[in-house]
Amino acid sequence: MQDFLAGIAWQVAVLAGLTIVFTVLAFLSRGRAALHWPKSLRQSAITNFLIVQFTSLNGAMYLVLIAPLAVFYTWLGLPVLDAAAWDSVPLAVKALAALVVYDFSLYWVHRMLHTSVLWPAHAVHHSDPELHFLSWSRGHFTEQVVIAGCLVFTSSWMGFRLEEIAGLALIKGLHQHYVHSKLDWDHGIFRDLIVSPQFHRWHHANVAEAYDKNFASIFPVFDRMFGTYYNPGSAIDVQTGIADNPANDFLTQTLYPFRKWAEMLRARGKAQEQAGAL
Ligand SMILES: [Zn+2]
Ligand SMILES: [Zn+2]
Repeated sequence: MQDFLAGIAWQVAVLAGLTIVFTVLAFLSRGRAALHWPKSLRQSAITNFLIVQFTSLNGAMYLVLIAPLAVFYTWLGLPVLDAAAWDSVPLAVKALAALVVYDFSLYWVHRMLHTSVLWPAHAVHHSDPELHFLSWSRGHFTEQVVIAGCLVFTSSWMGFRLEEIAGLALIKGLHQHYVHSKLDWDHGIFRDLIVSPQFHRWHHANVAEAYDKNFASIFPVFDRMFGTYYNPGSAIDVQTGIADNPANDFLTQTLYPFRKWAEMLRARGKAQEQAGAL
């Protein structure tokens, strides 16, 4: 119990720090309007906070899941690059190589999450009508396991140690909070180098032209390569969310994928019944 409370206190301290940092950045970018948190934004923030505390494994995800997933990788007997292969490679290059391989894998995992059966798990992340830095925390635990697996499997294959994988997770986590923040930054001449808040806001846009675009988490080059790049400019006023937005509360969000999967099964059963009756 004490560990649980200490964990929550730690998370609250981290989130308070992130709130200060992103509020200052938003203030510098958008002026006093950034200090106004309307009721809908407060509701979103509470829902995201509860999700991160009680169902999403974000934050603690890496500490909780890295070790068992790495053991699972070894158990499967999958190949591992000899760790000595990295001996003469500078740490920054090694980290960059790991992030490129991870982001390439996640690009395709993310594309799969946008397909019919997997979509309900990912739709929770897309359902935030008030995209802000905490929205990254809005991830259903069923998809979080898949994303953590992607990180651990790609890093394990490259011969990385657990603490190195945790370090990568930290870099990725901070960047993810940043790209979800309410900043209309596109990184100027570096826009194709690193994913910006504007690029990712278009991924969340509830606009037909932006559907199934901008899957990369870190490097937009993958969207350029595979024809899914979309950034027509400012996204700060674009509506975010999904067509069938579930209510913006913790319980509805947690149950949403299960409700959708049950609906899919019922529809499939009905279709089979009708086909049998013909
Ligand atoms: Zn998505
Ligand atoms: Zn997102």
